[in-house]
Amino acid sequence: MQQTTIETQSTDVPDWPQLIGGEWVAGVDGAWTDAVCPSRADTVLARVPESSAADVDRAVAAARAAYPAWRALHFTARQRALLQIADAVEAEAEALAVLTAQDTGNALRTQARPEVATLIALLRYFAGVAGEFKGTVLPAGDDQLQYTRQEPLGVVGAILPWNSPLMIAAMKIPAALVAGNTLVVKPAEDAPLTILRLAEIAAPHLPAGVLNVVTGDGEVVGEAIVQHPGIDKVSFTGSSEVGRRVGEVAGARLAHTSLELGGKSPSIVFPSAATPERITATAAGVLLGMRFTRQGQSCTAGSRLFVHRDVYEPFLTELAAHVSALKVGDPLEEDTDMGTIISAKQHASVCQYVEEGKRQPGVRVVLDGVDFVPEGDLSGYYQGPTILADVSNDWRIAREEVFGPVLVVIPWTDVDEVVAMANDSHYGLAAFVWSQDLTEALDTAHRIESGWVQVNQGGGQVVGQSYGGYKQSGLGREFSIEGAIAGFTQTKQINVKLG
Ligand code: NAD
Repeated sequence: MQQTTIETQSTDVPDWPQLIGGEWVAGVDGAWTDAVCPSRADTVLARVPESSAADVDRAVAAARAAYPAWRALHFTARQRALLQIADAVEAEAEALAVLTAQDTGNALRTQARPEVATLIALLRYFAGVAGEFKGTVLPAGDDQLQYTRQEPLGVVGAILPWNSPLMIAAMKIPAALVAGNTLVVKPAEDAPLTILRLAEIAAPHLPAGVLNVVTGDGEVVGEAIVQHPGIDKVSFTGSSEVGRRVGEVAGARLAHTSLELGGKSPSIVFPSAATPERITATAAGVLLGMRFTRQGQSCTAGSRLFVHRDVYEPFLTELAAHVSALKVGDPLEEDTDMGTIISAKQHASVCQYVEEGKRQPGVRVVLDGVDFVPEGDLSGYYQGPTILADVSNDWRIAREEVFGPVLVVIPWTDVDEVVAMANDSHYGLAAFVWSQDLTEALDTAHRIESGWVQVNQGGGQVVGQSYGGYKQSGLGREFSIEGAIAGFTQTKQINVKLG
């Protein structure tokens, strides 16, 4: 049994093996790598296997061996397993949230606990719809039985990012399993521990080999999963850059592929959303939509804010007041709103974007979080929120995904102009529209080229909704029941001559 939370003061670094075929094992090569705590950057939380393609081979073999019996079960058996895992996760929820905060730097109250809650909700949701992975019967006459079966794809290779590992795992593992697939999961190098712990909680409720987790480098383990002929589907969440490579490699062998990629999502404020009665709620919603409390490390962050010129100054003032009130600090502290950036490399990249943005002619620095120093003796990758106003939509900082707590603000006058600017992006993941005029709000929502548009709210994905990207933000849908049927099953038609 592994430990559930890790004592960060300890000098004893535990080894945390990976799960292959129901066994907790080291990598074939015997190499290990450190899992570092981003909020105490000199602390190693655990060592995890630095695996190789040989480990992927083992995991695929285990998943293939487990597949026939798993897919053959009555759906209620898979449903029961998911419900048992949900209960087991719920019993460990607080420890898992603490481990999330340690592993990712996401603050316990604002992000880590909600991530665990989402995982539990999705396990129960997909358990609930287990019987819906079903086919149809065509009314083809009395002498014919013509029906379809929604059959699982086989072994799914699930590749995860570091920003909210449990939540992204929750978007893949329950749906893939309940549809009758088995899994090889690869967590991100920078945040592997919660996925190992989730596997440990789930393992007693699943036959050996149904769920396997292999840790290691993306270019080694990730690449081996994408290339492996025994992986029937690659379900990838990560950057558009790596996603393009994954799509090419998986496409070359015609494997099923879903890609959930990056974003640079627009958030559009109409004057009616910034009246004296509405301005506070809209500013709070824009803050939430920007995912400041996740350090902006969210693919759906509304990181390009378009504010109508009539309300531009008062709205900026209101928003700056809300954002500057956020407490940045130790993710494990209850009163922390915003934790740490994941790594030194990511921290440096965000700072570089901000410095470049600050050098643009005419930019107004409303908040500058680059030199932020947290209270106490903390040596992690802390950064405060940054807001740059009077930005042009064609600057690099307005076009590229910063993946940090950096919001750019762009003024607009005409609705056609703002829709054109919102759509002038190679991304199309999420969008936010703020207006009290329903026609105006929905007309804008329909014109925006994004897979998910929210009106007058800025929260995260909710169970049952569709989710996925337009343009270079992704391919495929997995999150809803419709997405899961399309993403984790294939249709077989059977035509029988009767009599
Ligand atoms: P990343 O693309 O660098 O890595 C994602 C995963 O891919 C990691 O597990 C990594 O090890 C693996 N990987 C790297 N090279 C690989 C290769 N050649 N073959 C196979 N796998 C490989 O992304 P990241 O930095 O971990 O996460 C941040 C990115 O993820 C952002 O762009 C963000 O927008 C995106 N993201 C998207 C969603 C979504 O739902 N659309 C959700 C979360 C994060």
